[in-house]
Amino acid sequence: MLDLSAISVVDNHCHPVLLLQQMDVKQFRRYFTEASDTSFAEKHAPNTVYYLWMLRQLAQFHGCERTEGAVLAARNSLSGEVLQQRLFTAANIDTLVLDVALPSPESSYSAEQMSQFGGCRTAKMLRLETLMQGLILASGDFDEVVEQYTQEISDLRARGYCALKSIAAYRTGLQIAEWSKDEAVISFKEARAEAVRAGKLRIAHKPLIDYLLHIAFQKAAEQHMPIQFHTGYGDGDTDMRLGNPLHLRDMLERSDYQTMQVVLLHESYPYSQLGAYLAAIYPNVYFDLSYTIPFVDKLEMLAFTRQALSITPASKLMYSSDGTNLPEMHWAGALRGRSVIAQVLQEMIEADELDEEQAYGLARLVLRDTAYEVYKL
Ligand SMILES: [Zn+2]
Repeated sequence: MLDLSAISVVDNHCHPVLLLQQMDVKQFRRYFTEASDTSFAEKHAPNTVYYLWMLRQLAQFHGCERTEGAVLAARNSLSGEVLQQRLFTAANIDTLVLDVALPSPESSYSAEQMSQFGGCRTAKMLRLETLMQGLILASGDFDEVVEQYTQEISDLRARGYCALKSIAAYRTGLQIAEWSKDEAVISFKEARAEAVRAGKLRIAHKPLIDYLLHIAFQKAAEQHMPIQFHTGYGDGDTDMRLGNPLHLRDMLERSDYQTMQVVLLHESYPYSQLGAYLAAIYPNVYFDLSYTIPFVDKLEMLAFTRQALSITPASKLMYSSDGTNLPEMHWAGALRGRSVIAQVLQEMIEADELDEEQAYGLARLVLRDTAYEVYKL
């Protein structure tokens, strides 16, 4: 079997971990489901294959019994700092590319701290919908919001960002249309009224989101900046029908956007073949292979990894964990990613599709080198 443990990973899509790492079973389980119903985690998380796998791996890591209680006690006895130190070092991480908007910065370790504890590099991306929400809360003037927004997404590298990210799939869908300014203003007024009424805003106003996204596409293309899109399986509130990456066609066809790299997150699961296809056809589309979230077990990971490597050049594929809240997730992603990619490449060697040297070359691209190029690390 190929051994990929020496290849350090660039985790091209993940999130910060929480400051408060000491937690009870109820809370721990909650981080292992995307279901929004709070009773779901308690009742069903312990009966999912990936959760049982995680407990066994952690038991081995901590040298304890594989019961939930023993694993929890072992991890809770360590500080967040030590936990990150041990897990990230064991995971052999080169760089974490972080979406620092979630969990909230007040409740999580900063990118700088994670870098220091983990002995790895961190890079940051800017989540567009969070930026939009903040600006709409702050001002009732459409032109002012657009101006401020445009400024915030100019000169991104100088501001410390290596990518943009959009969660439009979770809100209004990936069929990002072109709207007139008048239509965007009407939509803005609705969003603003909601923001004023509630004192907060969850932006889900399609003409407004789409209008602001097109501004971001122009700015990203100008700066040769990548943008990540959530596609397929993600938050529990997503309308999965609208998360099919084929909806991105109009944007992908725009000739003036070709210098913006588009990264399809979450292997577009369960639209994995479709997402992999887009990365095989469009020069500026890249495909993310995520090995902790979405929560699926190894057999499904083997399936989407086979599809991706069968359809798409490895120089268009990038590893991630989508680890969030718990440092165990970033660690588990790296373990899983290496082992699944190794197994699939081994199958390809046995099928006489590749030789071993070629297989290692492709593994290095997926685990690290493609991301280096896309994010200019
Ligand atoms: Zn994410």
